[in-house]
Amino acid sequence: MTGRVERAGVTWLEYAYGPDLVPDGPPDPSGMWRYRDLLPLDPGPVRYPLPVGGTPLLAAPALRAALGLPAVWLKDETRHPTGSNKDRATALVIEDGLRRGIGTVTTASTGNAAVATAFGAAAAGLRAVIFVSTGCRREKLALMTRAGARVFAVPDGYAAAVDLSRTAAAAFGWLDRNTGVVPATLEAKKTVAFEVWEQLGRELPDVVVAPVGDGPTLVALGKGFEELRRCGLTERVPRLVGVQAQSCSPLVRAWLGEPAATEQLDPGGTVADGIAVLRPATGPAVLDAVGRSGGGMVAVPDDVLRRAVGTLASRAGVPAEPAGAASLAAVGAALDGGLLDAAETVVLLVTGRGVAPTGDPGGPAEVPVAATLDDVERALAPR
Ligand SMILES: *Cc1c(COP(=O)(O)O)cnc(C)c1O
Repeated sequence: MTGRVERAGVTWLEYAYGPDLVPDGPPDPSGMWRYRDLLPLDPGPVRYPLPVGGTPLLAAPALRAALGLPAVWLKDETRHPTGSNKDRATALVIEDGLRRGIGTVTTASTGNAAVATAFGAAAAGLRAVIFVSTGCRREKLALMTRAGARVFAVPDGYAAAVDLSRTAAAAFGWLDRNTGVVPATLEAKKTVAFEVWEQLGRELPDVVVAPVGDGPTLVALGKGFEELRRCGLTERVPRLVGVQAQSCSPLVRAWLGEPAATEQLDPGGTVADGIAVLRPATGPAVLDAVGRSGGGMVAVPDDVLRRAVGTLASRAGVPAEPAGAASLAAVGAALDGGLLDAAETVVLLVTGRGVAPTGDPGGPAEVPVAATLDDVERALAPR
């Protein structure tokens, strides 16, 4: 790493770019750490114990036939240990904590970042202290508590949960894994771009479609592709298409230059809980990345999201949750809107796995409520 610049409200780490920063050998089992020369990581062995990155890029022949898109690919992030792309960011933050000897990691989350943090911390021997909004899905809460995390429900919603988590991190010296505000979360998620490029034979697709919640997934894709260009490995970068659920689509409205109606700003109004974010942490950076790439933003209604979950299962064998299927859900609108052409090479990022109904209730889904730092301190005090 050689420096940091602010760009559209996010911290952009920079490196001494050159072709040698990306390995050119055959695939190896190191996953995301294959790109460690483009990560903020000092030399030394990686201690994070779970596998992360190196997810498959699927050709999905039956899906290609069904959609009439002969060159569509699925980047299957559901294969991660906790089933979402959140494992990438979690791994890099916890690796940093292991190196610095920090014993507690905290995050706020709509669900998946918290599950990733709970399991990653459990594997690494750290304590996880997690803040969710009271609307968090019970299956996801049960996963977190089963992994031994301390979980608090914050009455005033996700934004208040982020504030409380960050305040606690600063007050108690905990590791902060809050998405978008911590550069490591972008740095880790950008490795998807490197993988896609390598998996297509060191070629870039024409278009990449990604769901947008807080925005780091898409912003990081843009950063990864741009870094390949700055390394001299490609001349052009793909167009980026960002997808939100219609009932929580603040960035689609901003992209279109339209004021958002109340029914377009309702995080509880969509099945896609993983992307239901009212005030995205990296909103301006999303619009900047989409604009620079020549792409666009698309909103999809819940019935189309649900259908996309079914299509991914029945035509591609990929078990997505609604937020994870948003890229596929957006294909029709993107074709209609001229954002992509049926003959182009298109990568759909499938970001998260449906929580499997195992019949096992997991850990308790009842968690204490915390509104202030005092509530947190009292609950965590040894009795
Ligand atoms: C978090 C999440 C997203 C969106 O990621 P952001 O980086 O917050 O935009 C998309 N899909 C799933 C399944 C997620 O968990």
